Amino acid sequence: MSFDELRDLYQEVILDHGRRPRNHRRLEAFDATAKGDNPMCGDRCQVWIRRTPEGGIADATFEARGCAISVASGSLMTEAVRGRSAGEIHALADRFREMVRTGQHADPSLDTLAPLAGVHEYPSRVKCATLPWHALLAALDGKGEATSER
Ligand code: ZN
Repeated sequence: MSFDELRDLYQEVILDHGRRPRNHRRLEAFDATAKGDNPMCGDRCQVWIRRTPEGGIADATFEARGCAISVASGSLMTEAVRGRSAGEIHALADRFREMVRTGQHADPSLDTLAPLAGVHEYPSRVKCATLPWHALLAALDGKGEATSER
């Protein structure tokens, strides 16, 4: 598959998740929730999580109002983190941040999030992609609020 084909495919994934986000609902029974906002773009989101007995994430959902990048990122994120430990999620969040800043995604655990690697070409959109992750980590760490400005 050529680079251009891959690029088109990735755009399709983002458009699909932006239009029909997965897990885009409030979780009825949740252990933690946190909100995030990205004043740069006007994106807002809220994440709900249910923990595993070990403190990882059994289920994660979100609601977002904002651009397609932020909605698609929340959708891909909630699919990627389910069933992972807190440590794995922190590591994944770090590598995801690195990926959207540099476009590099050598780590196989980032494969399902790779469609967002192209965001690095648009520095002003990086915060759109990381916003749901800020909210997720805030929920995981027991903080109620997150901002993309950190
Ligand atoms: Zn945005």
